[in-house]
Amino acid sequence: MSSDTLANLSNEERRFEPPADLANEANVKAEAYDRADSDREAFWADAADRLDWGQKWDQVLDWSNPPFAKWFVGGTLNASVNCVDRHVDAGNGDKVAIHWVGEPDDDTRDITYAQLKDEVSKAANALTELGVKKGDRVAIYMPMIPEVVVAMLACARLGAPHTVVFGGFSADALASRITDCDAQVVITSDGGYRRGAASALKPAVDEAVEKTGDLVRHVLVVRRTGQDVAWDEGRDVWWHDAVDGASSDHEAEMHDSEHPLYVMYTSGTTGKPKGILHTTGGYLTGTSFTHWEVFDLKPETDVYWCTADVGWVTGHSYMVYGPLANGATQVMYEGTPEKGRWWQIVEDYKVTIFYTAPTAIRTFMKQGREIPDGYDMSSLRLLGSVGEPINPEAYVWYREVIGGDRCPVVDTWWQTETGQIMISPLPGVTAGKPGSAMKALPGISADVVDDDARSVGNGNGGYLVLKEPWPAMLRTLWGDDERFKDTYWSRWEGLYFAGDGAKLDDDGDIWLLGRVDDVMNVSGHRLSTTEIESALVSHPKVAEAAVVGAADETTGQAVCAFVILRDSAGDGGEDIVEELRKHVAKEIGAIAKPRQIMVVPELPKTRSGKIMRRLLKDVAENREVGDVTTLADSTVMDLIKEKESSAA
Ligand code: ATP
Ligand code: MG
Repeated sequence: MSSDTLANLSNEERRFEPPADLANEANVKAEAYDRADSDREAFWADAADRLDWGQKWDQVLDWSNPPFAKWFVGGTLNASVNCVDRHVDAGNGDKVAIHWVGEPDDDTRDITYAQLKDEVSKAANALTELGVKKGDRVAIYMPMIPEVVVAMLACARLGAPHTVVFGGFSADALASRITDCDAQVVITSDGGYRRGAASALKPAVDEAVEKTGDLVRHVLVVRRTGQDVAWDEGRDVWWHDAVDGASSDHEAEMHDSEHPLYVMYTSGTTGKPKGILHTTGGYLTGTSFTHWEVFDLKPETDVYWCTADVGWVTGHSYMVYGPLANGATQVMYEGTPEKGRWWQIVEDYKVTIFYTAPTAIRTFMKQGREIPDGYDMSSLRLLGSVGEPINPEAYVWYREVIGGDRCPVVDTWWQTETGQIMISPLPGVTAGKPGSAMKALPGISADVVDDDARSVGNGNGGYLVLKEPWPAMLRTLWGDDERFKDTYWSRWEGLYFAGDGAKLDDDGDIWLLGRVDDVMNVSGHRLSTTEIESALVSHPKVAEAAVVGAADETTGQAVCAFVILRDSAGDGGEDIVEELRKHVAKEIGAIAKPRQIMVVPELPKTRSGKIMRRLLKDVAENREVGDVTTLADSTVMDLIKEKESSAA
């Protein structure tokens, strides 16, 4: 990626200083960078000391056999005890762990740490009763109900790695994950609520279990909607029969620091999902520390809300393990974003820290600020973003409209593989720049390099790499060490290749530019999808944009854009396409002017809200559309193809 492609993003001049009171009281101050630089392992050992250990480690990091890391070698701990029991033991049993908000109005539950401890202990006893032993894998396919958190922590307690599969995925997707990690027990529910109606889950489990032969011995079923379900006596067990009557005493075993905690399959934005393995001590250290650091969590007073589905890594690291290990009070919501419902929840629960994805922010931008303006969100003090680059315009809207122009925005870059946030502003230290994820956190070493692994230096673009091991790093791909080495460590000796393009600006701050695979080559110029998308979103009529490079006889590749207009723009007017092409030329340069712009009602996204550009590329190059199994809504592609054929 050459630097001339980046004129637009680097022209972003807006800066937002941390609020003075936040800066004064910040959990992590500027000195942390130096402290971590002078002794990285000591820095992470301090972070690990925030947890309760059975036996303390002998060695912080064993990197003698790269890329296979071992953290806190010789130490033992139990993730479930750290997330629950220790808060009760410290006298905080009556504190609310989860304010759960169901999708149907007025369906709410507040769960204290003491109640959570009882539920987790009962579920651990019930799973033991069903034959689950340390090391066995358990698949979880559930809606956003408290039992999913209980199920995960019960598995962690037993040392039985869980694999959580999005409740929106098909039976096929579930079956392939069950098979890949050889799970003999599945935990699910009869159904869940989506857009005001009960939708079934159990039939997909029945179908998936059927496809996996006689692998699955038991299916544990929570009754959520009360809808009719088919029942296999002997195999199927109701949660309320197995768990409610079980003992709430459960002696937790301390597991080895490197004992597997879970397998999580990546979003599948670029291809077939990979089974990422996370282990216990390093993962819990990395997630709990960064949750406290990046969100400046004050567990006594904050009300935290991460809107991610639990079927995504963000739901694991920053809804379950990080916040609960920190003893936070948080909101958990069963539904998806709809008009004012989120803001009503912020108002009702006086949420102080809010963490969501750019896709949601752009959806709210599309609908207009009148909706959020109708709620009292003065409790908010910090906003976070994750999942995709946040366009500068979306950042500023988020800050102003949701954050009342007073809340810092932390744009957090990380991956399923990294387990923990890696690149982000520190809210009490960093002056934010809209669109930049800023710097590697203390104790993390990131760089941007060229094809020969040389640092590109300030003002240049290249490949984002990580140079030193970190506690929550993936340990391997489940059952496939070779693919683990090939995928992440083979491009350059000793460097972790993240697959993302990035640029360092003149201050050395990092701008994420999208997937390396998505970079376009137009007449010999390398253009980033992110940059052109951000230029489009900076036009007042545009809410969202996706850009792909399509084969072109004259230029090699041509820029093709798909845009969603803001509701206030109506159909955009007759000349909208020409208007937007000119806008991109003005913002970036004539070279970036899209050959084609299609106004569409929706974009193809994964369940975690990421745009799947490879499918749009299929459309732009007139090909049969590829694998759509990880799409949130597969009918979106039909809508786009219809538009395309009516335009042609
Ligand atoms: P797959 O690897 O299966 O294609 P995926 O990469 O979408 O799926 P995740 O691990 O959920 O799966 O997503 C991580 C990716 O999301 C990062 O590599 C990056 O491309 C993008 N990302 C996440 N946070 C940010 C951010 N703050 N800024 C820019 N990009 C981000
Ligand atoms: Mg990825």
